[in-house]
Amino acid sequence: MARGKQKEQAREKAQKLAESKKGGQSQLGARAAGLKINCPVCKNPASNYNVLKVHMEAKHPKDTVPPESSFSS
Ligand SMILES: [Zn+2]
Repeated sequence: MARGKQKEQAREKAQKLAESKKGGQSQLGARAAGLKINCPVCKNPASNYNVLKVHMEAKHPKDTVPPESSFSS
């Protein structure tokens, strides 16, 4: 029965490898999709609206933060 167990372990290993490859790809996609918001003042990229809000409050306190709906397209 030792042979069968070895085969099973090899299959599990291959499955884990495929899953980790898939995970890396989806992470890359999410990162690329997240860079759609840019600061309207200095064009600095923000990964999401909250990051932009914090950035604007810190860097451009005199400017008003545009509404979130103006970035979703
Ligand atoms: Zn800025």
